[in-house]
Amino acid sequence: MTKWVKTDELERVNTRNVLRTIELENGLSRAQVARRLGLSRTTISTIVSKLITVGFVTEKQSKAKGRGRPGIHLSLTSERWYAIGAEFHSKKWVAVITDLEGRVLKISETPLKKEDVDSFLLGLKDTIRRILKDLPGAMLPAIGVGTPGLVDCEKGVILRADDFGWRQVEVKKYLEEELGIKTFVLNRHRAGGLAESRFGVGRKVHNLVYIGIGTGISAAFISDGILIHGANYSAGEIGHMIVDPGGDRCGCGKTGCLQAVASGSALVRRAQEALRRGEASSLRGVMESEGGELSGELICKEAAKGDPLSLRCVEHAARFLGIAVANIINSFNPDLVIIGGPVGQTGDPLVRLIREEAAKWAMEHPFSATRIVQGVLGETVGALGAACLVLDRKLELVCTE
Ligand SMILES: [Zn+2]
Repeated sequence: MTKWVKTDELERVNTRNVLRTIELENGLSRAQVARRLGLSRTTISTIVSKLITVGFVTEKQSKAKGRGRPGIHLSLTSERWYAIGAEFHSKKWVAVITDLEGRVLKISETPLKKEDVDSFLLGLKDTIRRILKDLPGAMLPAIGVGTPGLVDCEKGVILRADDFGWRQVEVKKYLEEELGIKTFVLNRHRAGGLAESRFGVGRKVHNLVYIGIGTGISAAFISDGILIHGANYSAGEIGHMIVDPGGDRCGCGKTGCLQAVASGSALVRRAQEALRRGEASSLRGVMESEGGELSGELICKEAAKGDPLSLRCVEHAARFLGIAVANIINSFNPDLVIIGGPVGQTGDPLVRLIREEAAKWAMEHPFSATRIVQGVLGETVGALGAACLVLDRKLELVCTE
């Protein structure tokens, strides 16, 4: 193992910055990296040589383009190191293998029959074991995991997941004991936010908020690529933002929390009440073909096709999501709000309605600087984000053991 990173704190910081610069912009020359970081050519050359040796960076000779001169350009190395991430949503584990540039090379899914803690942990172990067999090369020696709930990232424990009624689930301890591989754990939607910020629509955006809507709702607040955890990992728990005092009861015990009125679970409850009252809806036929199960995703899809009952449910949820987004815009002043998660990824009409509602409630000045868009990374966004926990630590993982 290479030992150089530990030897010198300043070199460690410089190395991290050089690697980050190459990650952000593919194809820079050594001289360009030196100029951007205000470092000498000699320092850059030493660091780049080491990054090439360890297999993170590759230099390629380019041909002259137009009046541009030919040169040697730096990029991340593909086909050397790989990262694994897994995330739980829609009753299944999704695991991915990615290269250093976040390209998803392999996907493995493990559906669960039951959503209890034991099945959840067992499913995680199974899905990781299975995908490990498909590694095309060296694995960055850790696994990233995205889970529901409020996660203590240092301990790797789900403190509480109110949409499932879980408390104190020791994910990190379990997986490290079962597989003997270092494990990092993060809330699944904060993982989704990281992925969009590194590889998706949030790339190079200064201040962004990713709002993940699934059975619960949570967000990632990211500033210049750094995920804000808060004092004890609760930053982004917007599912418990009070938007309707005295409204529906939330799993946390309070009433009127955003996720009690606007999550996938809330959409299902509202649609089921209307169906029980005998209202006509295309949901009945869809439920029959899905084995009787209703989900927030299905309701959004039927709303997009014009089912009036589904659309009414989505409008109700979007009203509260819009209020929440307006409050976030007023207080955090983001450049970008990304709507994601299994329900958010259904796109319009939900995203359009959230945008319209937010426009009604937000202050004009910050709203004028904010774009509200749908996430672009699709169903593997959370697993890719979990892999980011490993990719972001590649220097420490490979060079300081
Ligand atoms: Zn709550």
